[in-house]
Amino acid sequence: MRSYGRKSISASPRPRDLLAPDAKLAGVWTAQVITLFPEAFPGTLGLSLTGRALKDRLWQLDTIHLRDFGEGRHRNVDDTPAGGGAGMVLRADVMDRALTEARSRIAPEAPLIYLSPRGRPFTQARARALSEGPGVTVICGRFEGLDQRVIDHYGIEEVSLGDFVLTGGEIAAQALIDATVRLIPRVLGNQSSVEEESFSHGLLEHPQFTKPAVWNGRAIPEVLLSGHHAKITDWQRAEAERLTKERRPDLWRAYLQSQGRDPDEDQEL
Ligand code: SAH
Repeated sequence: MRSYGRKSISASPRPRDLLAPDAKLAGVWTAQVITLFPEAFPGTLGLSLTGRALKDRLWQLDTIHLRDFGEGRHRNVDDTPAGGGAGMVLRADVMDRALTEARSRIAPEAPLIYLSPRGRPFTQARARALSEGPGVTVICGRFEGLDQRVIDHYGIEEVSLGDFVLTGGEIAAQALIDATVRLIPRVLGNQSSVEEESFSHGLLEHPQFTKPAVWNGRAIPEVLLSGHHAKITDWQRAEAERLTKERRPDLWRAYLQSQGRDPDEDQEL
């Protein structure tokens, strides 16, 4: 039996049925997404472990259709860039109306993020911090992006998924939400897998193997089949260090520093 005792009530310009199956529960981690394509959600977030957790109300999704806040009969949300140039820009006044509605429906401490290639890179540490809060409001851009004035007015933080340009923020939003939701307790069946994986100790994860023991002439490293736990842990740690050093000198330096070791004494750097 699910209790309705935690249904949240807040002022809203549009009526909402608090007993509807999608009514929002107060105190449940909430991903709020402002988008021109609400049909893209939950998307992959509705599958597998994040999807099961969504059904079980370990987290909830609140999509806000930017079009609903558009101008005039055609509900226009964008216009040509001031100063000329290619493409269209999302209007500040339209986004402001969507944000006013969004912010009335989520805990005020929930961070407000605009997914943008100009943003600070998203990290595992940020996912961890977000998962420990009440939720997040994310704005998905489209076209050339968002009018700067609304970013400045709200002090919106820009977060990037990496040094490449997507067509819109929806895929980026799903990536950010996925990385965060899986850190909410009970979302993954096996919480220790979160503690051991890439980035949690500042290292990339060691290689993984499973049956068959020999495939295409390649055997699983013998130590992993030895049953000797201390040796296995040593091997995994050595492999994690080797991979990190080879592939991510930036992470390797930070790792050495966090261990109180001097990266400049490490000769291969
Ligand atoms: N003209 C912009 C790019 C707009 S791409 C520029 O050059 O910076 C359209 C939208 O896709 C953006 O508003 C943003 O929401 C999303 N997007 C594109 N690349 C992204 C990335 N690397 N990380 C996060 N969001 C991204």
